Amino acid sequence: MPDHQALLTGLVGDRAAGWDVSGELPRDLLVRLGAEGLLCAEVEAGYGGLGLGSRGNGELTAHVGSLCSSLRSVMTSQGMAAWTVLRIGGTAQRETYLKELTSGKLAAVGFSERQAGSDLSAIRTRVRIEGDTAVVDGHKVWTTAAAYADHLVVFGLQEDGSGAVVVVPSDTAGLRVERVPNPSGCRAAGHAHLYFDGVRVPADAVLAGSGASLPMLVAVSLAYGRTSVAWGCLGILRACTAAATAHAKSREQFGQPLAGHQLVAGHLADLWTAEQIAARVCEHASDLWDEGSPEAVTATVLAKHVAAERAAAGAALAAQILASAGAIEGHVVERAYRDAKLMEIIEGSSEMSRMMLARHALALPA
Ligand code: FAD
Repeated sequence: MPDHQALLTGLVGDRAAGWDVSGELPRDLLVRLGAEGLLCAEVEAGYGGLGLGSRGNGELTAHVGSLCSSLRSVMTSQGMAAWTVLRIGGTAQRETYLKELTSGKLAAVGFSERQAGSDLSAIRTRVRIEGDTAVVDGHKVWTTAAAYADHLVVFGLQEDGSGAVVVVPSDTAGLRVERVPNPSGCRAAGHAHLYFDGVRVPADAVLAGSGASLPMLVAVSLAYGRTSVAWGCLGILRACTAAATAHAKSREQFGQPLAGHQLVAGHLADLWTAEQIAARVCEHASDLWDEGSPEAVTATVLAKHVAAERAAAGAALAAQILASAGAIEGHVVERAYRDAKLMEIIEGSSEMSRMMLARHALALPA
């Protein structure tokens, strides 16, 4: 693990700010990281992956999150695509797609549509089987990493109302990929809207577990995404704590370091506390995940919710501590402030997470 982290630190270097400003990650970097298995590190060695557990992959994800949330977002998408294939795909589909995803092919996952944001039961994309062909019609919005992806993992409905997950190569005729212009955060993550107009792919691109209910299929995929986002938020907090403590020790005002002023020290304490809380909920969720515990599902929602809220609050504290020193486009704290806010919206917004947690609490034995 430490050598993977060192490799990533070296490859990212001081380039994250530039990627944020330009809104673009270098494709050769993504392909290299993909080919090293680092973008979906939980994939087993038999499929060319690193075979890390959820905890090990989480630490790797947090490290990437501390360097660049755009890159971490691409990693989340790739990992979510791989997890979806692993859990919903058949044997031959796993063999094909997982090996591609650990060999430099990139993937994105599309659930959301214009009318289906928090309410994914409103998905309207249709997947129709015509003999040995599947035909996809519909649209997706805000698909992270889609601008870089070779494969789009698309959630839709079949004619009988059951769910379908289909892997669509991004160069298929009838598919248009339209970049989201100037997103407020994770700016280089390649978000795109997708338009499917009679897109035809071989029927064996429809994952074998399709036919189950759409909410069930979506839940499988989101469980990975939530864990990954939670660890990414921990990375944001670690980067903010490092930047804020370094600044508070070195910058002097009123004849002493900022850290010597109690109100600033209070901000630092709150920031470090946020980081520690996020770490514990992430570790808890991943450990349950690695044990195969049924409690992992709720622990994952909890981790994503707590880590995202703490990251948004922590990034705001760090921005306050750095003040003008951090108020520069692309600065680690300025990026964190914009990126962390989006983490409260995706993979189940804070409101959706709280409703799921409330349902869990209400179902507990008295
Ligand atoms: P809405 O559903 O319109 O909600 C607006 C607000 O109302 C939110 O605060 C929400 O929590 C609240 N709300 C809605 N319903 C309720 C309710 N019943 N009770 C209480 N509050 C409610 N989608 C993908 O499929 N794939 C991706 O890779 C992907 N990446 C994304 C990356 C970014 C940076 C962003 C911003 C979005 C991404 N999305 C992606 C879409 C994302 O999943 C949705 O934005 C998210 O589900 C929220 O949907 P919405 O934006 O339509 O908000």
